[in-house]
Amino acid sequence: MHKAGILGAEDGVSEGMSEERRILLSLAGARIVTESTELLTAEVDFLRSVLEQLPAQVFVKDVQSRFLFANQATVRRLGATSFAEMKGKTDFAFYGPHDAQAFYDLEQQVMRTGVPAMNQEEKFVGEDGLPSWHLSCKLPILNPAGEVNGIVGFSLDITERKRQEMLRRGQSDLLEMIARSEPLPAILEALVLLIEAQLTGIFGSILLLDEEGRRLFKGAAPNLPDAYNDQIEGVAVGNMVGSCGTAAWSGKPVFVSDIMSDPRWANYRGLAAAFGFRSCWSTPIIAQHNHVLGTFALYSFEVREPTSEELQLISIATHIAGIAIERKRAEDRIRYLAHHDSLTGLPNRAAFMDIMAEAFNQARHTQQHVAVVYIDLDNFKQVNDTHGHHAGDLLLVEFAARLVDFKHGGDHVVRLGGDEFVMLCLTKPTDERPFISRLHQLRKALAQPIRIGNGEVVTTASIGVARYPRDGATPEAVLASADAAMYRSKEMGRDTLCVYDGPGNMKISRDIGREEELRRAIENGELFLEYQPRVDMISGRILGLEALVRWRHPKEGIVPPLQFIPMAEETGLILPLGNWVLKTATRQARAWQDAGLPPVVMAVNVSARQFCDPLFPNLVEQALTESGLSAEFLELELTEYTLLGNVNGAAAAMNAVKALGVRLSVDDFGTGYANLDILRDFPMDMLKIDRSFVEALPGDQATRAIAGAVMSLARDLKLSVVAEGVETKEQQDYLRAEGCAEAQGYLYSAPIGAPEIAQLLGAAC
Ligand code: C2E
Ligand code: CA
Ligand code: CA
Repeated sequence: MHKAGILGAEDGVSEGMSEERRILLSLAGARIVTESTELLTAEVDFLRSVLEQLPAQVFVKDVQSRFLFANQATVRRLGATSFAEMKGKTDFAFYGPHDAQAFYDLEQQVMRTGVPAMNQEEKFVGEDGLPSWHLSCKLPILNPAGEVNGIVGFSLDITERKRQEMLRRGQSDLLEMIARSEPLPAILEALVLLIEAQLTGIFGSILLLDEEGRRLFKGAAPNLPDAYNDQIEGVAVGNMVGSCGTAAWSGKPVFVSDIMSDPRWANYRGLAAAFGFRSCWSTPIIAQHNHVLGTFALYSFEVREPTSEELQLISIATHIAGIAIERKRAEDRIRYLAHHDSLTGLPNRAAFMDIMAEAFNQARHTQQHVAVVYIDLDNFKQVNDTHGHHAGDLLLVEFAARLVDFKHGGDHVVRLGGDEFVMLCLTKPTDERPFISRLHQLRKALAQPIRIGNGEVVTTASIGVARYPRDGATPEAVLASADAAMYRSKEMGRDTLCVYDGPGNMKISRDIGREEELRRAIENGELFLEYQPRVDMISGRILGLEALVRWRHPKEGIVPPLQFIPMAEETGLILPLGNWVLKTATRQARAWQDAGLPPVVMAVNVSARQFCDPLFPNLVEQALTESGLSAEFLELELTEYTLLGNVNGAAAAMNAVKALGVRLSVDDFGTGYANLDILRDFPMDMLKIDRSFVEALPGDQATRAIAGAVMSLARDLKLSVVAEGVETKEQQDYLRAEGCAEAQGYLYSAPIGAPEIAQLLGAAC
């Protein structure tokens, strides 16, 4: 037995050995024990059969890269029928020139350098267009002299592994897209493409269910024809609505293997047929809490059920789509919450600046104006305090709903916070008048009673309007102007609309229709007076009466003065109105005296505009003369605002009326400037402590201090003091103890009509 050598083809180990065998031996590099030809033959056969059965491709090539050997796997791979067909040929006979050249170059390099090429990944695209991947190694074959005389190669089909890898990578890419909050359509499209890349002749589609859960809309279907997508856009969910509509409806997968015969496709068969679809497998995309978010469907041109591989892909797709959609919804929700007020659902202050900037931008491009309408409820706090927070909330919700009802298409309504709202409207610069009268409609609509529980509350709004670009260049500036105008409305008695007209200058906007109505009301005798007694707190005796005007509106019923006096002041209608009050009140006072009732002082409210009218003293004189009332029984109520606002004019008017012998009182003392100088500088007879002070008595310590100081000052100045708005016995007791002698308020009597007053006075005789 001699030692075996490394066999090469040239070694000529055995005379009878076929060339193929020799090659195999050489390639195996086998140490052959040459004791017996039979043994050798058996061994070679064994090796050969191992090679043939290997799923890997094994081949040997000569120095010119020509096939010397190829196992069955290689034969199959190259599409040959047997090795004989391949023998002596190069890869150029089997691959495209590009691939073949690449293989050839690599093999030549391996043979030239003697360095094996290990673990090369090769990708092929087959005739069917599908890619396949191989992992191959190529090693030089050396003869005993150490010279390279060929290569041995093996190669393994790793397509399946590669697919799985791509799927895994695709999934992690998608999760990353979701984490980065990329747009939902992009994520869903990438998902469909990933699934499609795993399959042949299958198209995917994702449909999203709308908020109401009624209709499906396209999420992604990159390879379905647009015409098909368009036709099913917005399809209603139901139990016979194709695969997707039914799946979304039932919450269960609907695998229709033959569209043409399945009843669920009865209404959509023609549509599917037009595009050649024969089966459609749809699965609902389910959110964590088991509600349906949409559907994922695969369409095939064949009549069949999905394969297990397809089922696995469907489950991956619905899972990822579910995460993406839920995440998107959560983000939308968070964004919504950050930009909306949870009570009314309106955009909030955070959203508002953006909305304004956007509207300004639009206005610039279209040469329009943006009206910023600042709306503040007048008596919200009161409703909240007297009816509770729940009622306050209901009020705000109703208010918001009225604003929303009122707005036109492009307008925005925002809740700035508390009881403040803003409406943004794009308007034409020439449309000022119609726009303002529209806002008056709004003001009236807001003042309609609101049902809360079993009761009703009436709340009005003070409105301020400013415009971009006229009243400010930035959102902040225009908003500040609108706010200032709104504030002015509050000052003007609420339920008023003011238009910003330069710094410190606000026009109270005229509601032209309303103005006309009031003008006619004065002429038509729709106004009437009620009288409220002023009493001696100790004896209860009536010392005086305050005349308070009301409007008996033909449609609206009795309208209180605060709803028309501010407008009358602004428009000048207060002059005829005030004069009517003056005449009526003096005439009435005189009539009671003539009727033998005890004479009392008649107090008439006089507004600033009236008082500053140069004719005013004449009118007072006229009223006294015409009625025959003696001047000592007439008292004019003036506010601090009237007295301070026009010092010289006021002083002249004051002296003139004083000269007639008429009494003067300061009304609403404490609400304006609480300016004690007024009391010294003007010849006043009486001081009326405002109701807001009395309201806070006797509880509030600061109010007690102020009320005390005012009363002691009044005593020093020899002024009588009357407390307004006394409603309770506690208030009365406290005021009495503090030395306040007179009072007016519901505790004694509300303002009442002339006949009732006559009765009261008569009873006192
Ligand atoms: P004012 O001069 O302060 O009149 C008192 C207001 O307080 C009246 O409201 C009266 O009804 C109300 N009042 C009286 N006692 C109580 C009370 O115990 N509790 C409460 N909560 N309220 C009480 P009214 O009649 O609605 O008048 C509102 C304002 O309208 C008046 O305030 C006055 O500024 C103005 N006004 C009324 N008539 C005339 C008028 O003829 N000319 C002018 N220029 N203004 C008038
Ligand atoms: Ca008054
Ligand atoms: Ca008053």
